[in-house]
Amino acid sequence: MPVTAFPARAVIDLAAIRSNVAALRGTAGSAQVMAVVKADAYGHGLVPSARAALAGGATWLGVAQLEEALALRAAGVDAPVLCWLYAPGAPLGRAVEAGVDLSVSAGWALVEVVDAARATGRTARIHVKVDTGLGRGGAMPRELESLLDAALAAQAEGTVDVVGLWSHLAWADAPDHPTVLAQAAVFDEAVALAERRGARLEVRHLANSAATLTNPAMHYDLVRPGIAVFGLSPVPQLGGPEAYGLTPAMRVEAELVLAKVVPAGHGVSYAHAYVTAAETVLGVVPLGYADGVPRHASGGVDRWGGPVQVGRRRLGIAGRVCMDQFVLDLGPDATEVAGDRVVLFGSGADGEPTAEDWAAAAGTISYEIVARLGARVPRTYTGGDEGGAARDTASSGPEQGGPQQGGTA
Ligand SMILES: *Cc1c(COP(=O)(O)O)cnc(C)c1O
Repeated sequence: MPVTAFPARAVIDLAAIRSNVAALRGTAGSAQVMAVVKADAYGHGLVPSARAALAGGATWLGVAQLEEALALRAAGVDAPVLCWLYAPGAPLGRAVEAGVDLSVSAGWALVEVVDAARATGRTARIHVKVDTGLGRGGAMPRELESLLDAALAAQAEGTVDVVGLWSHLAWADAPDHPTVLAQAAVFDEAVALAERRGARLEVRHLANSAATLTNPAMHYDLVRPGIAVFGLSPVPQLGGPEAYGLTPAMRVEAELVLAKVVPAGHGVSYAHAYVTAAETVLGVVPLGYADGVPRHASGGVDRWGGPVQVGRRRLGIAGRVCMDQFVLDLGPDATEVAGDRVVLFGSGADGEPTAEDWAAAAGTISYEIVARLGARVPRTYTGGDEGGAARDTASSGPEQGGPQQGGTA
């Protein structure tokens, strides 16, 4: 039975998130774990995922956008939160007031943080970011000294607290790549410089999931795993989730909205990219590219073992993925009827495909498969013991609710 009016859903296993974080904590040794829950927790739902990560032993949360940080605070999550992506003119006062740590990569950002601190009368906690070689965020090393000095001057007048120094790796998923050690060397110099200039850093941090799992030398005081929190491997070429004690937390399933017999030679979906070879049964799945099903996976029947589990079978997509739906060729002997459940991906424990399988088929990474799951696909939760974690999300969409909603909560 569908648990909502929407005939498909992502079922998020909060127990998996807790145990993944516990595993990451074990791997991280003495370093703290910041669970990165940006992009709606990689599609898994921000607040319930954050609560599960904290229950699993994370002591920090990381987000890209200010609104994500504020949503955590609005839900009553009071763990340390670092936010790292904002443009000039952002309402930083709201972050400072909410006790959200801010990343600072440039002089203009420091000026705006100081202004926000003055306006709110609160000391802003900042993490100075250095570009050790990713070529994305962070101050260039040659700019670091003046940025640090300005930040420490602001600290002396009480407007900011320089609590962190941090950076991000370009090739963490290739642990032996020479840039990894080169970036760490630049980072070490940046840390030494900051400490020489008088910073008393609470946390120095560099590692994402891949570096957390494969490279203890990168752990420093705090690691920042994202994808591994959700049970997917950041290094599929080196090992799947099970190799790192992780369990994929998201399962995407749908009910067939139609099953019907069509004759041989019947064109299927736009442009008839698939044509039936013989009389067969077609099944219509109510998920499409607006829901995050990659259009690149169209006609995947020939290219891989089959992206969709139907009963005990694995079937490919027949023809083009549409905006809201795609079609399966269930075969001439199919007994499926409308309302029968199919599984797009899950943990793999039950023979179903995984997000990694979809990623491989669509020429992308598992991150994109889960993070692009459409907002209209309801998230339901199992394995929750966070006391209201899932209840909170019941208000996040009009179609939430039903027997699976909230797990044990
Ligand atoms: C997304 C992100 C992470 C987490 O990366 P994963 O590969 O998902 O572990 C960590 N740090 C920063 C700066 C990020 O943008």
